[in-house]
Amino acid sequence: MNKVGKIIIVIVLIAVVAGVLVLKQKASSSKTEQTANQPSAINESVQQTDNQRQPQQGKEEPVAALPKLVDLGAGKCIPCKMMAPILEKLKEEYAGRFEVIFIDVWENPNEAPKYGIKLIPTQIFFDASGKELFRHEGFFSKEDILAKWKELGIDLSGPSSQLPTFERLTPAVPDNRPKENICYMCDGDINPKTLVSVNTDKGPVRLCSPHCYFIMYSCLTEDKTGFEKRVSVTDWGTGNPVPATEAVFLYGQDEATGRPWIKAFADRDDAVKERVASGGNILALEALQQKELSHRCGFCDRSCYPQDAAEVIVEGGIHTWGCCSHCALGVAARTRKDIEVHEKDRLTGEEIIVKTFERKVSSLKPKTAVAWFGQRKKSDGTWGSAGCFHQGFFMNADNLKKWVEQNPYETGRLIPISQALADKMKLSPQQIQKACKIGECVPK
Ligand SMILES: [Zn+2]
Ligand SMILES: [Zn+2]
Repeated sequence: MNKVGKIIIVIVLIAVVAGVLVLKQKASSSKTEQTANQPSAINESVQQTDNQRQPQQGKEEPVAALPKLVDLGAGKCIPCKMMAPILEKLKEEYAGRFEVIFIDVWENPNEAPKYGIKLIPTQIFFDASGKELFRHEGFFSKEDILAKWKELGIDLSGPSSQLPTFERLTPAVPDNRPKENICYMCDGDINPKTLVSVNTDKGPVRLCSPHCYFIMYSCLTEDKTGFEKRVSVTDWGTGNPVPATEAVFLYGQDEATGRPWIKAFADRDDAVKERVASGGNILALEALQQKELSHRCGFCDRSCYPQDAAEVIVEGGIHTWGCCSHCALGVAARTRKDIEVHEKDRLTGEEIIVKTFERKVSSLKPKTAVAWFGQRKKSDGTWGSAGCFHQGFFMNADNLKKWVEQNPYETGRLIPISQALADKMKLSPQQIQKACKIGECVPK
């Protein structure tokens, strides 16, 4: 074979090898997406970023070096496992601002001596030039990691964040309302004229209205046979408690919005009198329940009023509802189909339209629209969703900030709508089944 022939073979071989590398990356990156919130995926995805960087060098624009957080641990050590979701979150939220690298020292035994660590997990903070700034041994919380970067003088508000960042993690004013005046479901103030109380195994639960009771009812996972016997409503006229099974209900709709309202009565004659004054229909509990459960969230099955909900059109033409903005996106995860969401800005009521293609956001109207991810600190110090009543979409970051200012107890942060969708797409069918169910969702 002549020299030219040999060179051609070498070139072909290089091309084949490069092709295999690219394929491998594709396979591992889609796998990582699916399992991104599982701790075991961290190691994989970190190795993947390392692999990716090499073959792509020279092709891409040179990227400025970033500060780096290296966590040395192992898949099976308990504090390491606790670190895994934190690292994943940091990687997601601070992409382009600092790098997060996890090294499994049991799988890569020669790495530990390289970094001279004594125990796992150990986190090492490097500046953009690769100089070690600080190291910490043991579990290190997300807040502590971010505080440490700040203390080390590393600015994480970096240039690569295209969206304005905004968060409020402690309420503007402490919520000093007496507990018995706060609705268990929506956290709103309880109107003593529409109070509903439910005797549960964990004690009495107080709700602001019959509607919040039906929301609660619709997201209970227990056997609901005879549940109505535990429920007492409030007589509209006297303010006295009445067993729900003995009450009659006046069910009307707001003239302008069509949103339903419900008044309960111990005595049917009083309901008839009130009907003369305010209109509506008199219903027994069972008929009221049927009406209340007729519109459900297409993600979490909660009862909802269309006037409060986001409309969701599923690929193929089926219409359903999202009891909140995030649930509306969740319909794509539950149905595994593309969707179109029509939601209202929580401040102004203006329409926001999100369309997905292949489960990713393909169009956003207006382009400036953002999501508020309401979050609340759980008793173990980690953060969880604050629940459906504390989520929303906004036309832009300014509207979101104004709404947060008007609602001093809300805590959470601004996230891109694409991220809100991606978070839902990561859920397993089991997690979707539990979504927003009593005892599974809101940290109380
Ligand atoms: Zn309520
Ligand atoms: Zn929902």
